[in-house]
Amino acid sequence: MIHAPEHIKKIKPYVPGKPIDELERELGISGSIKLASNENPLGPSPSAIRALRQGLRDLNRYPDGSCFHLKKTLSGKLGLSPDEILFGNGSNELIELAVRTFLNAGDEAIMAHPSFVVYSTIVQAMRGESIVFPLKDWRHDLDSMASGITDKTKIIFIANPNNPTGTINTKSEMDSFMDKVPDNVLVVVDEAYCEYVTSAVYADSMEYFRQGRDILVLRTFSKIHGLAGLRIGYGIAKPSLIAEMNKVRQPFNVNTLAQRAALAALNDERHLARTKKINKRGKKYLYKEFKAMNINYVPTEANFIYIILKNDVAQQLYNDLLKKGIIVRHMGPREMRVTIGLPEENKKLIETLKKIQNK
Ligand code: PMP
Repeated sequence: MIHAPEHIKKIKPYVPGKPIDELERELGISGSIKLASNENPLGPSPSAIRALRQGLRDLNRYPDGSCFHLKKTLSGKLGLSPDEILFGNGSNELIELAVRTFLNAGDEAIMAHPSFVVYSTIVQAMRGESIVFPLKDWRHDLDSMASGITDKTKIIFIANPNNPTGTINTKSEMDSFMDKVPDNVLVVVDEAYCEYVTSAVYADSMEYFRQGRDILVLRTFSKIHGLAGLRIGYGIAKPSLIAEMNKVRQPFNVNTLAQRAALAALNDERHLARTKKINKRGKKYLYKEFKAMNINYVPTEANFIYIILKNDVAQQLYNDLLKKGIIVRHMGPREMRVTIGLPEENKKLIETLKKIQNK
């Protein structure tokens, strides 16, 4: 029998949020809600759905491997040149491409914990070493992360806003961090949730890109655009970096429907505005209810909230909620993450939590 090498055996499998269908099959229930994967509760952009219908008749053809039309529109919107953008099968693929392209076996990648777990999985798969710095006050501790840079450091991952805490790093923190990063280190700023941010002090990573730094900014159509099921995200970097990553990617990594839907979603200002509004309202409601229930939470700049319970009951509470048809994420002994949903979904969560608390 063939055995995977040790560095692969050591990888902890990624645990995704439980699909609604799976829960309902297991428990024989219906009407469940999923507040586990930071998806858009309003659904996909209606313009994207229309574009998808039209795209169906081209499915006998391979996709446009260069994403020409989408790249043209997006680069125009962002004031970039098309060769500064690379699309991926979700921003997940771009994380993988960055590591496969720039990290040698034995190189180090710096990241925070807790943060998006895929960074360390991919680094491990490429025989790299993850150097992990705990969050400080639930935020990336950029001073410590900068002090961890060695001759072997190749990549630094910063999720801004961070998943699972929803916290951001500010412009002044990022400015002083970027000043400490040498040129031979790639800074990957993962902005999967940037469109939700309302803070005036949020760091604009595009500024570092415009300064000509070795930075890769990652964004996605999975969250605010509501296209998680199609798998499409993009990276922004200087053309020389994009060109290297382009060599490593699969020629048809982004499917035809994803390209068409993303193009339509990009211009659907109404859907974006509705999504922001519903998120803001949901956040306000959940904050108020959590306070009333004496549940501690970390103020969020994204579409999910990190909750810290008083005792080690997160697993139990997760299971109790599942039985009532509510899927959230348990992140640690006391920590849970809930996605902000539709008003009726948020209400169902709160009412169920109240019932469980009073049991
Ligand atoms: N980065 C962060 C911080 C995320 O939370 C996620 C999704 N959970 C991703 C990247 C990947 O998103 P996608 O591959 O769907 O674009």
